[in-house]
Amino acid sequence: MTNKLKYFVANWKMFGKLSSLKNVHEIKRFLSLKKKISNKSKIILCIPNTLIYLFKKKINSHLISWGAQNCHYQEKYGPYTGSVSSYMLKNVGAEYVILGHSENRLEGETDSIIKKKIESSINQNLKIIFCIGETLNEKINRKTLFVIKRQILSSIDRKFNMNKIIIAYEPIWSIGTGKIPQVAELKKIFRFIKNEFKKNFKTKKSPTVLYGGSVNSKNIENFSGISDIGGFLIGGASQSPKKFIDIIENYYK
Ligand code: PGA
Repeated sequence: MTNKLKYFVANWKMFGKLSSLKNVHEIKRFLSLKKKISNKSKIILCIPNTLIYLFKKKINSHLISWGAQNCHYQEKYGPYTGSVSSYMLKNVGAEYVILGHSENRLEGETDSIIKKKIESSINQNLKIIFCIGETLNEKINRKTLFVIKRQILSSIDRKFNMNKIIIAYEPIWSIGTGKIPQVAELKKIFRFIKNEFKKNFKTKKSPTVLYGGSVNSKNIENFSGISDIGGFLIGGASQSPKKFIDIIENYYK
């Protein structure tokens, strides 16, 4: 294991209300008690926009960072009913934003829209958690590397500040299904992503690459042997503070 911080990013999805604050207090308590763990981990909670401002203020802890789960591509304001921009997210205290999640791609979000969202979010000084990953069909047809390369190249511009971009490899067939890739497969994909970055964007530092898709407290130990893994994007299991905490604890066991 390297001494870089491991990321544990919660993606609450469409979940959470004001009383969910108690869940975050539980996570904070755990992190405050387990210094050994919190010292080597970066905890980011990507919660609904409706909760970011209040939760950040009430929790008020350096142990937890805050993120949103999507934004509009228009940077500030515009005639887009129901949408929220990166500027508005920054204003309520978000530090991160998940972009390119397959659940949003399914709703019609294209690589070029994602590119505009990444650009506007970087302009607003947010850090991006950029999701990529293949469908089951693409996997069966051995198109995984081809697909993720296309996603990277068509949504990231050389002029972007690469320090602001974290990649989350989330195979679509794994999200919410209980299925996870084999370790050997993941190692190959992580290497590939890092190499593509270096090759295409001439970065000195290789990017942080997270794994997402059905991560839980039982399967988390499968990932501890993958040195290239920068951490995890955790969906369903992150909605329960106990499950989220168990994942973090078991990772270091
Ligand atoms: P999951 O979701 O952990 O519920 O599979 C991951 C994600 O969608 O980010």
